Amino acid sequence: MGGDGILKKAGAIIAAVAAVILVVFIAWDSIFNKAATKEFFAMDTVISAEVKGKDSENCIAEIEKCVSELDGILSRHSEASEISLLNKNSGGTISNKTAEFFRLLIDVSKKSGGAFDFTLGAVSDLWGFGKKPSVPDEAELRKAVSECGYEKVSLSGNKLVFSSGVIDFGAAGKGIALDEIRGILEKSSAKEAVVSVGGSVLIYGKKNIKVGIRDPYGNAGRSIATLTLSDACISTSGSYERCFEENGKSYHHILDPETGYPVENGLVSVTVVSESGALSDALSTACFVLGPEKGAALAKKYGCDAVFITESKQIYATDGIFSKIEITDNSYTLMPYEN
Ligand code: AMP
Ligand code: MG
Repeated sequence: MGGDGILKKAGAIIAAVAAVILVVFIAWDSIFNKAATKEFFAMDTVISAEVKGKDSENCIAEIEKCVSELDGILSRHSEASEISLLNKNSGGTISNKTAEFFRLLIDVSKKSGGAFDFTLGAVSDLWGFGKKPSVPDEAELRKAVSECGYEKVSLSGNKLVFSSGVIDFGAAGKGIALDEIRGILEKSSAKEAVVSVGGSVLIYGKKNIKVGIRDPYGNAGRSIATLTLSDACISTSGSYERCFEENGKSYHHILDPETGYPVENGLVSVTVVSESGALSDALSTACFVLGPEKGAALAKKYGCDAVFITESKQIYATDGIFSKIEITDNSYTLMPYEN
């Protein structure tokens, strides 16, 4: 065989080996990085899950089961839920897990000076958010406000007691779900995942990905800025959610616990980034009520970062996230905090 023949044969062997490696790689990738996605409705919102890994489909099924179980604990609107029973009986003995959720809510209520208050259920109901919203009667609203207050709730071990008010996990339930979902992913062979539960998103196993901040004045798919994040929970509270107009004035669902009226402080949305889903969600609501200055101080107490968007399209971002934000709609301006 001449030199040319040997070269041709060697070339053919190399090509065959490369083809085998490619086939093995593709097969390996399709088994161990198998992607599965699903969108479903639970917790009064749309949930979308995208998981990559060997067991991604099972993992998504477990996520769906976990969210529906959690809904069965936290939902105020399902009569048999643990929270509904607590509301009916002004307390009761709760599971270790539920006690942990309460401890966090009590802590955020205290540290926010009551701007966050998880006992406003009856006040929210008067506004009819999620049903047929309308401005409530002033006297009724005042009465409901006087009856609520997180300081009326006491938790000792697993025993929860409160004298009045209606417990509502609306401000933190979606973030709590993200923590439960992360627990499932950690036990599975999932390599990476993105799960969104309403306005709360979990980024798992992914590095430096861009997450959009929703356009407060546009549709849900449009963003006005991105945050570059790795392994984090991000929650946004916005005045564009659950809102309505009456006599030319608009009203939204984030309430000032002192008055029972929607917060009017010039903000349209607040996004909080945290390792904890529960904290990101609770703090996004709390920081919305507190505004950019006091809200940033609260986020800092928990080692979290926050982005505040005002009606005049100014964006305030805390130090830890300032360099990770990129404005994609130039009608918005990134503002520095004046220290
Ligand atoms: P989020 O979308 O996470 O900001 O949660 C808003 C929901 O939390 C509302 O729909 C109410 O159920 C509840 N909520 C409203 N105002 C407050 C408040 N000041 N503190 C705690 N929960 C609130
Ligand atoms: Mg929230």
